[in-house]
Amino acid sequence: MKMRRIYFLVILGCALTGAWAQNVHVGIFQDQLVTASVVYCSSGNYHLVAGDEILARFGQGDVLYLTLDREMVKVLDADRDFGFFSEVELRGTTPDCVFRIRPIQPELESRMYDDDLLVTAHDRYMTLVNRVDMDKYLAGVVEAEAGYNAEKEFYKAQAILCRTFALKNLDRHLSEGFSLCDGTHCQAYRGRSMQHPGILTAIMETTGMVLADYHYKLITAAYHSNSGGQTQRASEVWLSDADYLQSVVDPYSLHQPHAKWRDTISFNDWKQYLLKNGMRSVNRIPEEIIYVEQMRRKKYFVLDKDSIRMAKIREDWGFPSAFFDMFPDGDSVLVWGKGYGHGIGMSQEGAMKMAGDGFLFRDILQFYFHEVRLMDYRDLPASSIPHVEF
Ligand SMILES: [Zn+2]
Repeated sequence: MKMRRIYFLVILGCALTGAWAQNVHVGIFQDQLVTASVVYCSSGNYHLVAGDEILARFGQGDVLYLTLDREMVKVLDADRDFGFFSEVELRGTTPDCVFRIRPIQPELESRMYDDDLLVTAHDRYMTLVNRVDMDKYLAGVVEAEAGYNAEKEFYKAQAILCRTFALKNLDRHLSEGFSLCDGTHCQAYRGRSMQHPGILTAIMETTGMVLADYHYKLITAAYHSNSGGQTQRASEVWLSDADYLQSVVDPYSLHQPHAKWRDTISFNDWKQYLLKNGMRSVNRIPEEIIYVEQMRRKKYFVLDKDSIRMAKIREDWGFPSAFFDMFPDGDSVLVWGKGYGHGIGMSQEGAMKMAGDGFLFRDILQFYFHEVRLMDYRDLPASSIPHVEF
């Protein structure tokens, strides 16, 4: 009898705290030092909370002003001054809570977010954190990373990668008071999804699903815009290798919007660059520096006994990809490239083509990732997901 009661209390506790629904803390407007903002309650009911105290209740149409003042957050609404706080929270109390926030110092475009807003004061800025249901967050990420109007099976594959990335990196910004930032450093997130039905269905139909390796560890869920016809093995760009990130010949990425690019650089600049990077034979065999051919992706540009990583050349010259050919044209060097991005993991445009050809999300993920397990993250060992507490 006693056991049953404890069990019941645990269930009740989980239901009340939402422990079964995964929330994520996302730092928003992270590329800005925001010192003043207006917050509009768009739907649902909110509590303004500081410490354990509920200071006020807000509903649709209510407006709140937050200003950094003497290293504290000053909170006002239309007719009340709530005072100064080091931390303050706009906590949603209904499932339909949506707020809109418009930074006014600096002046930025407003964005809409689901669920809660946490504000912490620092000496020169406020940290703004959106505490949001994982699937709602993922809908916003998939929309920002993959746009509208793609096939549902593509959105499902993308949603699983975004979820895998998010769960694997929950401790990435712990010292700043949140899990993930909203820039490309983590995953782009510009607020709530505009309720694109294809994205929302894809998120719901894959809820909880992640990719793990054969040791039940979440994979590095890499993706990029277009592989140019062949994906890149991880170890050729990053220091670490992963069995599941092998190079794949990818015909689906050909003939897609970012399959090809062209650039022209000066022969002299190229020569100086190679000399600066330790290529000793540049002056002895100058004709060889302007012919680069990659039928398949190469790891290095090699001249005699010296080499430079193709990924470094891409980065130094700002090329869209490291998968390119070069040939001379008078005083210039023509650079004809394939693909867009680092080339590791799933090619988004290739995956869109596969989905259009009738492949299911499982097929798409299996094509781009070698020997991975598709599973529910709740079935992973506890050590697979960083344990974070806020
Ligand atoms: Zn980040």
